[in-house]
Amino acid sequence: MEKVSIVKCENYEHDNVKNAVKKSLDLIGGLKKFVKPGNTVLLKVNVIIGFPAERAATTHPAVVRAMAELVKEAGGIPLVGDSSGAYGFTGKSLEMCGISQAVKEAGAKLVNFESTGTYSVNVNGKILKNLNIAKPVIDCDVLVSMPKMKTHQLTKYTGAVKNFYGVIPGTGKAAIHRMAPSEESLSHAVVDIYSALKPGLAVMDGIVGMEGEGATNGTPIGSKVIVSSADCVALDAVASEVMGFFHGDILSTRFAHEQGLGVGVLDEIDVLGENIRDVRVDYKKSRYISYKLPEFLRKSMFGFAENVSSVEICADECRTCGICVKSCPADAITLEPDPFIDQKKCIKCYCCHELCPNGAVKLNTSFLGKILLKKLKYES
Ligand code: SF4
Ligand code: SF4
Repeated sequence: MEKVSIVKCENYEHDNVKNAVKKSLDLIGGLKKFVKPGNTVLLKVNVIIGFPAERAATTHPAVVRAMAELVKEAGGIPLVGDSSGAYGFTGKSLEMCGISQAVKEAGAKLVNFESTGTYSVNVNGKILKNLNIAKPVIDCDVLVSMPKMKTHQLTKYTGAVKNFYGVIPGTGKAAIHRMAPSEESLSHAVVDIYSALKPGLAVMDGIVGMEGEGATNGTPIGSKVIVSSADCVALDAVASEVMGFFHGDILSTRFAHEQGLGVGVLDEIDVLGENIRDVRVDYKKSRYISYKLPEFLRKSMFGFAENVSSVEICADECRTCGICVKSCPADAITLEPDPFIDQKKCIKCYCCHELCPNGAVKLNTSFLGKILLKKLKYES
């Protein structure tokens, strides 16, 4: 049986967080089981966007600091790294979400995957065959996923496995979105990336998670838990249930389990600490719908189905920062003379909506979309 621990933590006060993280690790065997003296330990955090920690889009700095301190106490050398969703903005994002400061306070080392170089890694994946992965992810002795507990507009849920999307720096993320625009294909791509890595541990920040339009535009919601496991897939199975999903509905969990990359069914997981039912808080799901349609339907019906949800830029709210332009895998966005999205090019990946720091990208659901949402029992 794979072990996943759930430990309650009421707030982000440093001592509370550190005690909760330590307790969650002790329940699965203790940090010294995973970290040996002298090991370089890369904490792969989630810094998708430059929002303050209170927006709950990024791993909270208090959890990062606590984990880095515990790694040092175990004799390891903590590194903390990621690349943000928007190319060229990782340094700023690390500052804005408070992780740079937390790393300093813990005496750890910050690594910006945009400037560390990459290794070319072959994978025999369903979608991806070759990946450029940030060097520290491969070079470290122990790789730790440190996700935030969040909903996601395309994949419903994002956690320990999908957190590794950030190991692909530069414009690679947008290129993958171009190849994998649907829930199913993106989930396969996420598992392809995961298959190239050897994470030893996962510690999730679920003290305050994000519901609704995650992974960046949702609403903070208190789950008040830290979730840990040596198996990222098992952690995702448990954490998604804590958020009120059925774990089998999360495709990355299901695909990773089917490929033998982890344990993705609750029957084979020993949940330690709190019971799932005692800490479950039903997160609001994303309202947006194109990804819920089968791929053949998305591409057929003369674009009819494609248009159930669409994106557009509100010119009054746009500050022409260019983040969406750099992140659009379909080159569908122009800012001159006015912000504009070419709907014929748009593949409905929602990256622009996810990454706009000003909330200027709006999602529209058509009349047909609203009917389908009701049928699928999602809010409209
Ligand atoms: S829509 Fe948002 S991300 Fe795009 S240029 Fe405007 S402010 Fe920047
Ligand atoms: S316009 Fe937005 S939703 Fe459409 S492809 Fe570009 S980033 Fe994705």
